Amino acid sequence: MKKELLIDKHGRVHNYLRLSLTERCNLRCRYCMPEEGIDLSPKNAVCTYEELLELCDIFISLGVNKIRLTGGEPLVRKEVGKIIKELGRRPIELALTTNGFLVDRYINLFKEVGLLNINVSLDTLSPEKFVLITRREGFQKVYDNIMLLIREGFNVKINMVLMRGINDDEVIQFAELARDLPVTVRFIEFMPFDGNRWSDGKMISAQEIRDIITAEYQLNRGTDALNDTTKHYHIPGFNGKIGIISSMSEHFCGSCNRIRLLSTGKIKNCLFSPDETDLLPPLREGYDIEPLIRNSIYRKKAQHAGMFNLAKRKNRSMITIGG
Ligand code: SAM
Ligand code: SF4
Repeated sequence: MKKELLIDKHGRVHNYLRLSLTERCNLRCRYCMPEEGIDLSPKNAVCTYEELLELCDIFISLGVNKIRLTGGEPLVRKEVGKIIKELGRRPIELALTTNGFLVDRYINLFKEVGLLNINVSLDTLSPEKFVLITRREGFQKVYDNIMLLIREGFNVKINMVLMRGINDDEVIQFAELARDLPVTVRFIEFMPFDGNRWSDGKMISAQEIRDIITAEYQLNRGTDALNDTTKHYHIPGFNGKIGIISSMSEHFCGSCNRIRLLSTGKIKNCLFSPDETDLLPPLREGYDIEPLIRNSIYRKKAQHAGMFNLAKRKNRSMITIGG
């Protein structure tokens, strides 16, 4: 029997699962990972490969038709190859958000299973600034892997988190990547999470981003897909597109279709919500977890988990959520 879809009390259907494979990462981006690091969850509190697949299958039976692998860095999880192979067989669109560092190791597998939609984070085109932002070396590797994905025909989006005084001087350079390359360059508003030293002043708003670009180029509004969190734009003569993700200044909660599943088996019904439901203990004890999932989605708030002042509220660090 076909099951009812996951619908919240505001009528939004939830069919998109963002699955965090791990809290670990090979980079230490300032906007994501607190300077002092994070306390990793104990091994027995992290879903095994089998448990992750079981959870995914339950979500798929409830109407989820898109799964995006994220993290931490999803490609540092040991069983990521097996997970991608298995999920590649499910009736879903499979996508990935990565820092790009290990892409060359898995590119053949991506092709084999048809994982073609890949978002890569890159916040600067300067190798020195890369170290400042990510607290690690690796610019060239990430850049080369982005070029490899593009050459091999993947649908690549480059995610750049803008921070005032750090990389806001690179907006035009990033936009110009879309002149010759068939990529979508997405500018993301800096969001507050525990330990990332967010402040109002450091955030570059969507309007400011548009102003910087329109000072140089004509920026035409494009079309967005249903449930898209990105507002798309196009510069005449450019091969690729520009995207702006305005989570802070122009939120898009009205069309939210996302469920976030952490590597510990907890679900978050909103990126900004402290409200989490732990599915792992009941799953391990053999209980039916469907009512827990339905309940969590049903009680989702209309917008930003009902928070009007996000920066003052406690939330986990982004590295443990996955974006
Ligand atoms: N490691 C992968 C990566 O960097 O793409 C996947 C995980 S990362 C947490 C997912 C996305 O969240 C990345 O695009 C990253 O830029 C974004 N992100 C992390 N912290 C953020 C913040 N404070 N504000 C806005 N976006 C953030
Ligand atoms: Fe790691 Fe991605 Fe967070 Fe950077 S944004 S620390 S690459 S999880």
